[in-house]
Amino acid sequence: MSFDHILAPFAAALKAREGLDLPVHTPIDGSLLATLRMDTKAETTAAIGKAQEAFIAWRDVPAPKRGELVRRFGNALREHKETLAALVTLECGKIHEEGRGEVQEMIDICDFAVGLSRQLHGLTIASERQDHVMQENWLPLGPIGVISAFNFPVAVWSWNAALAWVCGDPVIWKPSEKTPITALACQAIFESVAREFGAPEGLSQVVLGGVEVGEALVDDHRLPLISATGSTRMGRAVGPRVAQRFGRCLLELGGNNAVIVAPSADLSVALPSLVFGSIGTAGQRCTSTRRVIVHRSLWDQVYERLATAVQTVACARTGSPLEPGTLIGPLIDRGSFEAMQATLAEVRPQAIKVSGGERVMHDVYPNAYYVRPAVVKIAGQPDVVCRETFAPIAFVMPYDDLDEAMTIHNAVPQGLSSAIMTTDLREAEFFKRRSDCGIANVNIGTSGAEIGGAFGGEKETGGGRESGSDAWKQYMRRQTSTTYFGHTAPQLAQGIRFD
Ligand code: NAD
Repeated sequence: MSFDHILAPFAAALKAREGLDLPVHTPIDGSLLATLRMDTKAETTAAIGKAQEAFIAWRDVPAPKRGELVRRFGNALREHKETLAALVTLECGKIHEEGRGEVQEMIDICDFAVGLSRQLHGLTIASERQDHVMQENWLPLGPIGVISAFNFPVAVWSWNAALAWVCGDPVIWKPSEKTPITALACQAIFESVAREFGAPEGLSQVVLGGVEVGEALVDDHRLPLISATGSTRMGRAVGPRVAQRFGRCLLELGGNNAVIVAPSADLSVALPSLVFGSIGTAGQRCTSTRRVIVHRSLWDQVYERLATAVQTVACARTGSPLEPGTLIGPLIDRGSFEAMQATLAEVRPQAIKVSGGERVMHDVYPNAYYVRPAVVKIAGQPDVVCRETFAPIAFVMPYDDLDEAMTIHNAVPQGLSSAIMTTDLREAEFFKRRSDCGIANVNIGTSGAEIGGAFGGEKETGGGRESGSDAWKQYMRRQTSTTYFGHTAPQLAQGIRFD
């Protein structure tokens, strides 16, 4: 199968990075798309130097003017929406509709950031002293290092980059080694906009490579903030290293998201959300629904209806994510397939029923990994359920009262997204107060978030918040400033006399 027409709009950017040490395969059929060149540690260090120079110039550009650059970038993304979305699908395997959604998310955050560029508000604080003015100011922070995961190959970068640019900060991006092509494409689009705008060189840079390149960013004190998205394993390595040099970390790590289905749930509302949550993006979202905690009176029914719906969709709609009509694309690679099989093998002895889980379409795509999503009926929550397996497996388990449901819900180390299906207002409010996750939804699933809210989770999900609300504050430094405008010696705070 040739994918040249999808790569063609970005051929020049790929040509410039041609090399030998970073082969890039598409999960669609496993074929080689390109072989690129990784950055060395010295090149990464030089890129950080360039970002620092860009910072010196960019921090003094008025914020609304910085917003103007982001506005133009958002417009360029509108023009490239279809081509970039197809590339996202080709490189990470999510269906074309979701590829479009990912680029739309980039456009949305640009719009948000443009508005924000006129609202980077500080505070005026009442001073206890005569003729004093106290202020809280927000100032540009410095170059930001962004490390991203394969499953949102472009959106996560834009969440960080659009905010960082309006806040006055350059960005150096290390994309996943599994999805470097989309990163080069974004960089090419940005560069053409930045050139026309007259932005300083080095405002946006991409460095390619694996852990070593990531570590070069993590360890460099010239990057005051590292925003890292990926597995909890990665966060556990990155967090302490950044802390060691007193840098700041914004960690967006693994999830193990649950939906509670209460006795009053409207199943016509609940089931579509459960289906999308468990099999959308082939179960490869940090917010995918991994656990369904169902009131015992509905347990059999919800398991059967969910398993039937999932397998019906899977039988009819699994295939190349580029084909219109496909709803389930491939897993990213063989490692992901093996992790899914290992989890199913471990859980099988304790499971009551397992539907799906097997590899399909290997006759058509021998070098790619398409699977039937698995739906597992299980009576408890063994260790294997408490770990995140980044593949389409949904565990359906029972509860007897809401307190017990919340205990089961919160008994995993991750704390990203959560939901309850209920028509009982009291249950809904109780759930929102007790869920230990960064996201708690009512009557919508765990998967999929709008850019307007702060996105992220607690516990082993890392505690970071990206995107909307006041997430921008992480890309700036807070300064408290007191000014005295009187004519005699200024008073000391707390009434201290030092005559
Ligand atoms: P991964 O942890 O394997 O890799 C993520 C990124 O971290 C890659 O760019 C990788 O090169 C880099 N990296 C890995 N170890 C590193 C180290 N020691 N130092 C510096 N960089 C390092 O994750 P993945 O397989 O690409 O993505 C799937 C994981 O990401 C899942 O756990 C998923 O839940 C999580 N994820 C979380 C969010 C979120 O917002 N919470 C979003 C998307 C994905």
